[in-house]
Amino acid sequence: MHAMVLRELKQPLEWLELPDRQPGPNEIRVKVLACGVCRTDLHVLDGELPNPKVPIIPGHEIVGRIDAVGAGVEDLQIGERVGIPWLGHTDGTCPYCRMQRENLCDHPLFTGFTRDGGYATSAVADARFSFPLGEAGSDIELAPLLCAGLIGWRSLKIAGEGKKLGLYGFGAAAHIVAQVAKWQGRSVFAFTRPGDLHNQNFALSLGATWVGGSDEMPPEPLDAAIIFATVGALVPLALKAVRKGGRVVCAGIHMSDIPSFPYEILWGERQILSVANLTRQDGIDFLHLAPKIGIKTKTTRYALQQANQALGDLRAGRFEGAAVLTP
Ligand SMILES: [Zn+2]
Ligand SMILES: [Zn+2]
Repeated sequence: MHAMVLRELKQPLEWLELPDRQPGPNEIRVKVLACGVCRTDLHVLDGELPNPKVPIIPGHEIVGRIDAVGAGVEDLQIGERVGIPWLGHTDGTCPYCRMQRENLCDHPLFTGFTRDGGYATSAVADARFSFPLGEAGSDIELAPLLCAGLIGWRSLKIAGEGKKLGLYGFGAAAHIVAQVAKWQGRSVFAFTRPGDLHNQNFALSLGATWVGGSDEMPPEPLDAAIIFATVGALVPLALKAVRKGGRVVCAGIHMSDIPSFPYEILWGERQILSVANLTRQDGIDFLHLAPKIGIKTKTTRYALQQANQALGDLRAGRFEGAAVLTP
């Protein structure tokens, strides 16, 4: 197999030939068909997440076809197309797993961070954490659903039922959430970097009711806001944009420091919440719903060996929607 490997933090990925891997008990091996590039991959590269495994093959939005199964795998078969997400394994026994909150597991493994991921021609995953994808939809268009879509979905659930929804940062996740929110009958207010007319037009094309810079106030108070950008300074801005009782949901795994702010913008039972990882139930629910909604992902394709280019373009905001690697 070949892979783009992070051998050292803060260094470019390297194209390496590696020995083929065999799936262990309860594992599957897939031929990778496509793998999305997520903002979290940048945090992994930059060493911004605790306890990384290095060297590591990044990538946690994997669409692959099973070519080998290990002992004990019963629900998945050779030839099936599956999705492999960020949550790669849980212990199943810690207090969080037992209270149906496996996204908070005390002893998890994360694909592309603490177990090898999909920037590769082949990947091995725990079958119990992989989702059958069926044959509808292209590999490239499905890949962003596996993190941008799933985390977006969990964020939307945590944002509550409010009709007026703000989205801060209009990239891979927001462009999917906007479509789900609209389908649910909500109005989307999209906030981009100030002056980013390109992404503002992109948001309008997906049905946003209002677009503006993150330094602007919406024309009316919002019921909730989800922050996908990694900028802590957006938290007080979003608090000012939501009504009494409104929620501000921080969807990223990493954020710059949140500046201090006057208590009065939190008062009135406004809430700040974070979203961490996903549960398998999130995946089952969202992947079941996505075809019904008819979600269209906007993707930019890169060859696997161009992973460094894709990551650089993501960092600089040089494309709309999501980047996807194909071997
Ligand atoms: Zn656990
Ligand atoms: Zn991700």
